Amino acid sequence: MQKIHKELEKLASISACPTPSVTRIVFSEQDAKAREYFIGLCTDIGLKVRTDAVGNTFCRWEGKNKDLPAIGTGSHIDAIPESGMYDGTVGVFGGLEAIRYLMEMGYEPERSIEVLMFTSEEPTRFGIGCLGSRMLCGQLSPEEALKFKDFDGRGLAELLERFDFDGTLDEVKMGNDYYDAFVEFHIEQGPILEKEGLDIGIVTKIAAPSSLRVSLIGQGGHAGAVLMDKRRDAGCAAAEISLAVERIAKESTSPDTVATTGILDIKPRAVNSIPKEAYLEIDLRDTDLEVRDKALEDLKQEIEEICKRRNIESTVELINKDSPAICETKLIDAVEAATKELGLTSKKMISRAYHDSLFMAQVCPTTMIFIPCRDGISHHADEYSTPEQIEKGVKTLALTLKTLSSK
Ligand SMILES: [Zn+2]
Repeated sequence: MQKIHKELEKLASISACPTPSVTRIVFSEQDAKAREYFIGLCTDIGLKVRTDAVGNTFCRWEGKNKDLPAIGTGSHIDAIPESGMYDGTVGVFGGLEAIRYLMEMGYEPERSIEVLMFTSEEPTRFGIGCLGSRMLCGQLSPEEALKFKDFDGRGLAELLERFDFDGTLDEVKMGNDYYDAFVEFHIEQGPILEKEGLDIGIVTKIAAPSSLRVSLIGQGGHAGAVLMDKRRDAGCAAAEISLAVERIAKESTSPDTVATTGILDIKPRAVNSIPKEAYLEIDLRDTDLEVRDKALEDLKQEIEEICKRRNIESTVELINKDSPAICETKLIDAVEAATKELGLTSKKMISRAYHDSLFMAQVCPTTMIFIPCRDGISHHADEYSTPEQIEKGVKTLALTLKTLSSK
């Protein structure tokens, strides 16, 4: 199982920034090269490759019974600016490695097995994550997707022109009978497995993210001339909102509620000028939809109250509000059996980061296989899983796919 390590190294070199960081934004030149590289490796071992109109790429090892719903695995190869080389990529190249492992074993699947490379799991280009899987499960319509603009003001239709993808955007949505099961292999992006010295995490639930965009307008003025009781400082309102975000998550009845103000900008950003505008982006998640939605409502109310008290105009826009995914017991059991067969240690856990599997769970039974990553670091050049950890994950995935595809 040596190939995957070299392939991940090679993939990491297809980047818009110098190594060891990786930048590979969807629909960029690097994305195009990386896609080509992966497809080449799949056709080398006889997989049938097709892409849908948004670039989701399906690499199929045909089973004896082609008409049965297939077993899917896969993840993403896009990488946020200056991130690491394992997020998503171990799931795509690990899917391919798992198929090669099963082929070498002489296994012949009853159901077809597919490695699915999703388009744009990361939100870098359009501000919304999981573009490909949202469209696959029908949660995002072509009309909505076509309205997105990227950081250069370009839309999806224009960006897709350079690619030779098949079909139309209307055809991207997948039927509920396309996959019999979907298993995504991914680095944990958290510290638990490493800390507990475990080989494999078996995901039972994926937390549901929601995010808000908040724009505030107050009144600017000279930092010396305007007395404190006359102020409508948008920066102070933003700071208070940011603290409310933290408090609401801490006071939640669920330990799984987490909330973050990831963006907080003020204008005009001058030391002697009262901030007249502020802009925040807030991320709030939980595995329990009711608790998450309650926290979201509490937050909106709090924003309103803060702005009223401070005489600030506010616009609150919901960027996304997704449902958590509950993973299928049958699949969790299959992964657990695979780890036992391999003599590996494992634990059932929640995925707090969000993945394409969150959306795949809407169209088919889904679970995820996690492997440890050093210090839980991800989205950073220091992201690292050892070759041994990756191989344990690939083997677990391979045996899981074997069980699921055998009948
Ligand atoms: Zn990822």
